[in-house]
Amino acid sequence: MAESTGMRPIAKETVHRLCSGQVIVDLATSAKELLENSLDAGATSVDIKMRDSGLTSMTVTDNGHGISPENYPTLCRKHWTSKITSFEDLDGVTTFGFRGEALSSLCAVATVTIVTATRESAPMGMSLEYDHSGELVGSTAVARERGTTVVVSGLFARWPVRLADLKKNARREYTRLVGLVEQYSIISDVRLCLSNQTRGQPVVSVRTPPQSDRLTRLLGVFGAQMRPHLVRFEYQAEDFSLEGHVSRAEGGRGGSDKQYFFVNGRPCDLPKAKKLVNEVFRGYCPNRYPVFAIAVVVKGSVDVNLTPDKREVLIRCEERVLLGLKEALVGVLEPDENAFSVAGAG
Ligand code: ADP
Ligand code: MG
Repeated sequence: MAESTGMRPIAKETVHRLCSGQVIVDLATSAKELLENSLDAGATSVDIKMRDSGLTSMTVTDNGHGISPENYPTLCRKHWTSKITSFEDLDGVTTFGFRGEALSSLCAVATVTIVTATRESAPMGMSLEYDHSGELVGSTAVARERGTTVVVSGLFARWPVRLADLKKNARREYTRLVGLVEQYSIISDVRLCLSNQTRGQPVVSVRTPPQSDRLTRLLGVFGAQMRPHLVRFEYQAEDFSLEGHVSRAEGGRGGSDKQYFFVNGRPCDLPKAKKLVNEVFRGYCPNRYPVFAIAVVVKGSVDVNLTPDKREVLIRCEERVLLGLKEALVGVLEPDENAFSVAGAG
């Protein structure tokens, strides 16, 4: 056995670096966190521009409320947030973020520059530079309309193993980001644009029309050819409700992508529910998969604070949600001459 040495606390800077690597794990999570910040800032338009799938840089520009000068110094400090102040606030949190970790973690694993202007300061704003510990190290006055632009470059430059992995998987990560942005384009009515520039002109992967209705946005994601195959369903229980669109058997596809869940307005992964929808669908259309977007609204009793990316959620009444989902799906997928959903097709 190795000889034991004395214990000592890990240096603060090292702890920050260690923990940040768990919050910002990849390219898609980084861009998702910035998009969520823009939505939390009340933006009606968000542009996500990736260079080399985000390996060189990612730039997220919004027209939200901007950042007030008194918050410049603390903006990228760990666990500084404008969204909650106590654990109890979690119950009523309506913003995507609340942990105050994304910007500070991005600073630890990349180079972060923020340009921001508020209604009061526009048409002038400030360009802010932060160091790897999240401290403000430079500011310059610049022309800027109301809103915020966050530029993240050199992601994981100081983490050679992660960087090598990222380089290998950059395209796959970008595809995952497209899926994530599509989910936000379904759930919000914000104008979203995601593009990637590798060489030559940027290629647009997601673009949502402004102020469009849910069905238009769904078809933007699923493809216009899905229009005749989509059915809408609803299910009401005392403590939860379901509302969604799913493709019927004749709209079955070869792959299980474009299957999206939202819990209380938050895009997330519900593996058991996903399995269930696919199983029910395959009962009518073997070896094929549906596209779907299903929103679950649960009164209280959800915990989204399981993982830093908040993709996992705990729903206390999950078993009943699954039963309700099955009933609603059978109602709309069952091949029946009337072919109408419980709540009417649409
Ligand atoms: P969280 O979102 O959990 O609060 P972040 O590290 O993502 O933590 O952001 C820290 C804070 O920075 C936010 O609480 C918000 O006040 C501010 N902020 C971040 N991005 C924006 C933005 N695009 N527009 C306005 N404020 C922002
Ligand atoms: Mg955030």
